[in-house]
Amino acid sequence: MLGLEFYRSLPAKVCVECGCHIDEQHESYLYECERCLNTREE
Ligand SMILES: [Zn+2]
Repeated sequence: MLGLEFYRSLPAKVCVECGCHIDEQHESYLYECERCLNTREE
């Protein structure tokens, strides 16, 4: 049952800016939430 524990222990993807949870539907290379990405666009 170690395999199950391994998956459950995986860290949740969080925004590097505000620390909020990032929706897994986003591209894997994104490290910021959609809100922070929008605020950075000038
Ligand atoms: Zn954010």
